[in-house]
Amino acid sequence: MSQLKDKIAVVTGASRGIGRGIALELANRGATVVVNYNSSADAANEVVETIKSNGGEALAVQADVADETQAANLIKATTAAYGRIDILVNNAGTTRDNVIMMMKPEDFDFVLRTNLRSAWLCAKAAIRAMMRKRYGRIINITSISGIMGNAGQSNYSASKAGLIGLTKSLAREVAARNITVNAVAPGFVLTDLTKDLPEDVTNQLNEHIPLGRWGTIEDVAYATAFLASDEAAYITGHVLVVDGGMAM
Ligand code: NAP
Repeated sequence: MSQLKDKIAVVTGASRGIGRGIALELANRGATVVVNYNSSADAANEVVETIKSNGGEALAVQADVADETQAANLIKATTAAYGRIDILVNNAGTTRDNVIMMMKPEDFDFVLRTNLRSAWLCAKAAIRAMMRKRYGRIINITSISGIMGNAGQSNYSASKAGLIGLTKSLAREVAARNITVNAVAPGFVLTDLTKDLPEDVTNQLNEHIPLGRWGTIEDVAYATAFLASDEAAYITGHVLVVDGGMAM
């Protein structure tokens, strides 16, 4: 598939899980991919090697995207290596779950920084280069927790709801420059983030998913790749829910 041929993409948090899957799918469709990671250097290098061994082009770049300077450096490293940035996928994310009575303010701040501030910083850094080229695709990975809420995830749900507000505001701000901004809201997908959920919680969740299964990393990657494509040129400010029908 060459749908994204000649496109330069940055995927934050692409060393593992959904970000890794998105990086591989964008590369599959012909994009050159900057594989951002924070702490998992070996895993990020494996993603790059996998893309290269399939005939693609990729580069691993370390950056804590919640940090202003490092987020800006990630975008700079991209334009230095490839001359521009066409696609930004803000995927990096984390959880620090607890009921609000037990949750520390540091856990609230950490999750908001990692999930929301990071996307704002990376978008801010990428927008200038996209505006110059009069082209851009920004895709924020939110969650159905940001739409439905989730007990024990007041910090995470707030960050993900915030990402939806960011998506819509930015979409309005940059539409005239041919830059689209959309969000993908996955339901439950098995990754390091969700692997420790107790079995009874998992079974309970399954009962609420009309399609009767958890999502796969590929389910999320295909939706993201579509929003990154030229076929999605007239879609902006949209939240594409990929959840087996759970949130409807
Ligand atoms: P994961 O397996 O835990 O992977 C998280 C990724 O984010 C890792 O590559 C990690 O990099 C990176 N990361 C974390 N903090 C970072 C930072 N400050 N700077 C740069 N990278 C950072 O999680 P996942 O399940 O794939 O989740 C990916 C995204 O999908 C998240 O935004 C999550 O909220 C969202 N999501 C997941 C689910 C689900 O069910 N799994 C559902 C809805 C939404 P290092 O390992 O290098 O530190």
